[in-house]
Amino acid sequence: MTDPAVDGPMAASGSAAAERSATASVPKQLRIGPSWRDASAATGLAVEDPSTGETLAEVADATPTDGLAALLAAHHSQASWALTAPRVRGEILRRAYERITADSARLALLITLEMGKPLADSLWEVGYAADFFRWYAEEAVRTDGAYATAPAGGGRVLTMRQPVGPCLLITPWNLPLAMATRKIGAALAAGCTAILKPAEQTPLTALALTEILLDCGVPEGVLNTVTTSDPGPLVAAVMADPRLRKVSFTGSTDVGRILIAQSASQVLRVSMELGGNAPFLVFADADVAAAVEGAVLAKMRTNGEACTAANRLYIARDIADEFTERLTARLAGMRVGRGTEPGVETGPLIDAAARGHVDRLVRDAERRGARVATGGHTMPRAGHFFEPTLLAGVPADALMLREEIFGPVAPLITFDDEADVVTAANDTQYGLAAYIYTRDLGRALRVAEQLEAGMVALNQGTVANSSAPFGGIKHSGYGREGGREGIGDYLAIKYVAISLPD
Ligand code: ADP
Repeated sequence: MTDPAVDGPMAASGSAAAERSATASVPKQLRIGPSWRDASAATGLAVEDPSTGETLAEVADATPTDGLAALLAAHHSQASWALTAPRVRGEILRRAYERITADSARLALLITLEMGKPLADSLWEVGYAADFFRWYAEEAVRTDGAYATAPAGGGRVLTMRQPVGPCLLITPWNLPLAMATRKIGAALAAGCTAILKPAEQTPLTALALTEILLDCGVPEGVLNTVTTSDPGPLVAAVMADPRLRKVSFTGSTDVGRILIAQSASQVLRVSMELGGNAPFLVFADADVAAAVEGAVLAKMRTNGEACTAANRLYIARDIADEFTERLTARLAGMRVGRGTEPGVETGPLIDAAARGHVDRLVRDAERRGARVATGGHTMPRAGHFFEPTLLAGVPADALMLREEIFGPVAPLITFDDEADVVTAANDTQYGLAAYIYTRDLGRALRVAEQLEAGMVALNQGTVANSSAPFGGIKHSGYGREGGREGIGDYLAIKYVAISLPD
């Protein structure tokens, strides 16, 4: 696999300067109302490069007081932003789409530096992220209502959709740009002001995005960005304030539960995009080569650190040997290294705890009888690297079939019967994404209907699409982002009862 001597921490000569210039280009302060400003605490938030453990930069470390200042700014700007013409709001987002696209090399480098995934993955994310602004630029002008005659006559029913008000947007570190644009795009298009609270591991991308949006014409106070090393107290303080009207969160189910409970006191509108445990079903009639490539994408993009990542590969017995052989070869051949190095396909995990979690799950599966087809170990080098891993014959009681792996590890389970595999696939508290490979249309639709998931990919290894409603069921959350549905999470319906005697 990878030779640590070859994959040293330094990128190819010349790019070290590009890295320094990318991190130097980003504002390091909080954005609150009309200005960039220091946090009220003297300490800073250090941003780590997960491939080396070295500090990349230090940014402002917001306190609850700063969070409340951001909410005040969002509150003050709410009325004027709601009155801003939808076309104007849309055009700002469209400009931001173009700016992000033009700036994709710098943004991808920032993502890779603070998050660790390969540059190719980060570039893909930048395109995906920009696309949410393009989509919501188009949706901003389509928040239609309705006008109807009351069934009994003598009156009319008018419905309109209005912005819910200031929103707190809490984003994770795995897709630091796309998870932010997906929320900001919908909020701003709907006429809501926002406070962006990025993950502590990846504040640089969020700050760079904030600057771009301001340059593209987002008025002061409409977007406020607070970076913090201690999200709990800041978020709790903001959510306890009656001026906040909505929280949108992408992250773990455990934190989601805390936020759902916290949302009760102010009866906030809530969107929750939480953990997943995606099944990946390959039936005997599938195109095996395509299914292997789909599995590589569904498992390995973003280092496997995605809520939609294939977490359990269920392969029909007739094709299991061929599938295992091909996938083993693909994973064993993947180049692991610092995400900035050319040709690298898998980077480090986000931190030591994440790598420890993955290692524990692999050791547990092995103890219960799984066979390591390739990989299986942490890598003896700086940074939080784990080998791309395939485990065959994973028994039903293995912890990795219940928990989100969030790493480059694929457990493979063989099945014989369609009904049984659907039952196994649904045997999880999660319900985010699921994948099906089959050439039988009847089976495809039958299984898609039966899978308990918010999203099903058919003969493809991704569900990412800004024009489609992203979201889950069960413990994977509620609410939808993207698609025609996404903007609805940021709109409140008002109905006007009109007396109009016949
Ligand atoms: P992960 O476990 O993948 O890091 P988390 O759910 O912990 O995911 O983090 C997702 C987001 O939630 C991040 O922005 C993080 O700062 C934030 N977060 C973590 N803990 C809390 C909390 N107690 N209250 C509010 N936000 C939190």
